[in-house]
Amino acid sequence: MPPIVPSRLKVGVDVPWVTSWSQENEGAVGPCPTVDGQPAALQKWKPGVGKPLYSLNHLRRQRDSVRALLCPMCGEPTLEGDRWSQTGRFVAAGRLRARGFGQALPADLEDDRVLLDCGAIAPLHLRCAQASLRRCPHLGGMAERELKAFPPAWVVAPLYIEARAPKTGQPFPAVSFLQLLGVTTDRDADWQSRTPRG
Ligand SMILES: [Zn+2]
Repeated sequence: MPPIVPSRLKVGVDVPWVTSWSQENEGAVGPCPTVDGQPAALQKWKPGVGKPLYSLNHLRRQRDSVRALLCPMCGEPTLEGDRWSQTGRFVAAGRLRARGFGQALPADLEDDRVLLDCGAIAPLHLRCAQASLRRCPHLGGMAERELKAFPPAWVVAPLYIEARAPKTGQPFPAVSFLQLLGVTTDRDADWQSRTPRG
């Protein structure tokens, strides 16, 4: 076995805090405080050891970042007024319901209400969002470069995988990632006729 050497890359500076590392194996399913003790997919916690896996978010850190609105770049809490999303998309609640996403949304949320669908990426501090744009070739190459202010209200929607009980093999749902949807004060009266954007 080759020795496991801590990386010279710094977590939260060179590599986003939320990124998985090669020594962080995914494994068991177990109760997780990020989803109030529901079963969730768990993963070893060794940030900064091995190589960063830029395309893979760490399961626990991803859920932490959405649940507590921690900046996915630096891992520190974000405060209202300094939460920014580059990759989020504005979409009417009714359009998400039409795509079968209804269960995740509160029933009293009107169909014409515009949401900022951030997917699995919690909003960043302005300074971290700007640094990410400069450093990350993927983000820097996106057509959509404008940072959107994250609204003061939001909804968290768990995304589930099918897990199996070790002894019986019985399938049961376990949370993988958390999806984050900002709730804006805007309305889109034409949401039914609007061509979906992606
Ligand atoms: Zn930050």
